[in-house]
Amino acid sequence: MKIKSVRARVFEWKGKTVPPQGNFCSNAMDLVYSKTESMSTFRFHSWTVVEIETDDGIIGLGNVALAPAIAKAIIDQYLTPLVLGQDPWDYEYLWQRMYRATHAWGRKGVTMAAISAIDLAIWDILGKSVNKPVFKLLGGRTKEKIPCYYSKLYRTNLDEMQAEAQKYKDQGFTAFKMRFGYGPAHLQKGVAENLKSVEAIREVIGYDNDLMLECYMGWNLEYAKRILPKLEKYEPRWLEEPVIADDIDGYAELNQLTSIPISGGEHEFSLYGFKQLLDKKAVSVVQYDTNRVGGITAAHKINALCEAFSVPVIPHAGQMHNYHLTMSTIASPMSEYFPMFDVEVGNELFYYIFDGEPVAENGFVQLDDNKPGLGLTMKTEFLDQFNIIE
Ligand SMILES: [Mg+2]
Repeated sequence: MKIKSVRARVFEWKGKTVPPQGNFCSNAMDLVYSKTESMSTFRFHSWTVVEIETDDGIIGLGNVALAPAIAKAIIDQYLTPLVLGQDPWDYEYLWQRMYRATHAWGRKGVTMAAISAIDLAIWDILGKSVNKPVFKLLGGRTKEKIPCYYSKLYRTNLDEMQAEAQKYKDQGFTAFKMRFGYGPAHLQKGVAENLKSVEAIREVIGYDNDLMLECYMGWNLEYAKRILPKLEKYEPRWLEEPVIADDIDGYAELNQLTSIPISGGEHEFSLYGFKQLLDKKAVSVVQYDTNRVGGITAAHKINALCEAFSVPVIPHAGQMHNYHLTMSTIASPMSEYFPMFDVEVGNELFYYIFDGEPVAENGFVQLDDNKPGLGLTMKTEFLDQFNIIE
């Protein structure tokens, strides 16, 4: 079997979107003075889809959501020539080819995300070629079904947030992640607002359910040190990305400082990036996303590393590619779950592009033992609402 063609297309959403309300979510731009609202850097309304076809007619699907147009350019100009004519079963060799050929300017960020998309499509081909779901090639089923946590609860008004938590608690979710709306720029008043929002959600979900807290890199070390002791009494399962991804010593310091586990990794890349996080005990929960970290080839290795360090892997975003890795390792106890909503942040867009993304039932997602590959196909229902760039 040989790779015959690689096609990367950018899907740009032109349909209706819901504008973020209020102090929606703290984020890395909050610490930089700006006249426009900082959420604009946090939203992304396009996605790159990669289709790789083999000489025996199998089509593998991969995707990348980080800087989609740049990822497409990297795939078209640099990565495609490296994999054309090659046997997809030589996936480790192909991964090393892509990684090393781009090493001078790649390594992390959008280049690794572009490599991830190709790698995902290759694994989809491998599964389809032997008529097995991808998780069966990675270790198989380690759990009856995958527990997942509800992930939305952006900071709007507290009544709305409580109603949202109640609705999904009623649907059977037992774990919930909420976003903080305030950071250092909002001074002590913002600290009080952040604490109020945690209290409001705890009021609805009680202490029999898990609560995760998301900062999306919108704090700094000093602010995190100030607020963390006040959050302990709410018993969060973890506090996510309190500082920017490059401040690894900051993560390590916070992780030793309080009883609250610090999590991160959705903006970290490759086996080496995670080795560094684990060596420094910087995170107590690893949250790579397979479509950024280096694809399934890299994520599978990181799972083994996390198992050895006894640090749980709970990938970013749910999404099919992550579920296969979660299903196939005991290092991964659960998954994130983005519900399907009207297009808002952009987190929901994959539901509009692909068919086959599992829908949570009673707080669990299930993978089909008989669906080969990743189990996704292209959705036609919303095609007319995208600009598609070839
Ligand atoms: Mg996150």
